[in-house]
Amino acid sequence: MINENFLQLSDSYLFSAIAKKVRDYKAAHPERRVISLGIGDVTQPLPQACIEAMHRAVDEMGCAETFRGYGPEQGYDFLREAIIRHDFAPRGVALDMDEVFISDGAKSDCGNIGDLFRADCTVGMTDPVYPVYVDSNVMGGRGANITYLPVTAANGFVPQVPEHHIDIIYLCYPNNPTGMVIGREELQKWVDYARREHSVILYDAAYEAYIRHADIPHTIYEIPGAKECAIELRSFSKTAGFTGIRCGCTIVPKALKASVGGREVGLNQLWNRRQCTKFNGTSYVTQRAAEAIYTPEGQEQVRRTIDYYMGNADRMRSRLAALGYEARGGEDAPYIWLRCPEDMGSWAFFDRLLNELSLVTTPGVGFGPSGEGFVRLTAFGRREDCDEAMKRMEQWNL
Ligand code: PLP
Repeated sequence: MINENFLQLSDSYLFSAIAKKVRDYKAAHPERRVISLGIGDVTQPLPQACIEAMHRAVDEMGCAETFRGYGPEQGYDFLREAIIRHDFAPRGVALDMDEVFISDGAKSDCGNIGDLFRADCTVGMTDPVYPVYVDSNVMGGRGANITYLPVTAANGFVPQVPEHHIDIIYLCYPNNPTGMVIGREELQKWVDYARREHSVILYDAAYEAYIRHADIPHTIYEIPGAKECAIELRSFSKTAGFTGIRCGCTIVPKALKASVGGREVGLNQLWNRRQCTKFNGTSYVTQRAAEAIYTPEGQEQVRRTIDYYMGNADRMRSRLAALGYEARGGEDAPYIWLRCPEDMGSWAFFDRLLNELSLVTTPGVGFGPSGEGFVRLTAFGRREDCDEAMKRMEQWNL
């Protein structure tokens, strides 16, 4: 017998449908240069500081005296310590080393964290949404328990705190796909809700490094009370080009407790147990690369790459706005959420951009029903391509 919950999954048809349309278009128009504004992966190479750290680590692995075998499942102390010192302490957040779990990226932990919760828990997530939250809950038998919290013009693109009880809430800020961020006051409302309702917030901060406005929280733990109700998932993928290297971290505060039959159980302890059973740690070489992000040179190199991507976002956003488009996001995130003109649906606008301008985007409706009427643009491409794409839109007779 199999886990029949898998049969409840809807086909992840978005990216395959896009790929097919692009393939057909290229076959029919081999002379046209197709530009993708839909790339969800980084394109700039790794920071030099990371490359050098990896070379050194590989040399250590080649020598009996410095060779390392299995590492700690929770990650090496040198990286956990660097994360606390650079990402949390300067923001007034004190964490113990054993509250930080090094991962092989945020996607695995986004999916795996569900191991901690009962199959009959109720789940809330924004719509549009990063599909991993939905599918991993379907696999875990919670598909029918999902409440979608719309993010639309009707609520000013701010998801509203529900009026009923939800056990597990996913928040992702800066947001994929909308590129929007959450302010302190709004985030405080979620923390207050979670504490009142004894809910858990799973806070995905994969795009934290893209925040530029000073008043936007970089971690949910900047919000008072968050340690009692939130787990935070972080990633080096978009911060430092680690999409192919694979490293991130998950914070499970010791103050986060569940009450089971009158007994308090720490989620930190459960996650530690889960990791020790099912995960054997991120590779030593990878963790040395991640540590190098925090050196002065690493910080400088990371900043330069992020500035490059955000320069793309700035140019696209301002040129689209000048053309009269409603373009949201893209200020503290590498994503722009573009409203389709003339009340066109997401796929209709996608098709026109592809067929008339040879531009590839991602239809917003692919991220959930509230994404209908939008397309997502990403800033991860090359500068020349972003400029050329905007030139095509400026010359377009829509
Ligand atoms: N969370 C969000 C919101 C993402 O968009 C992504 C990647 O696209 C991830 C997590 C996964 O990141 P990682 O590469 O660390 O697995």
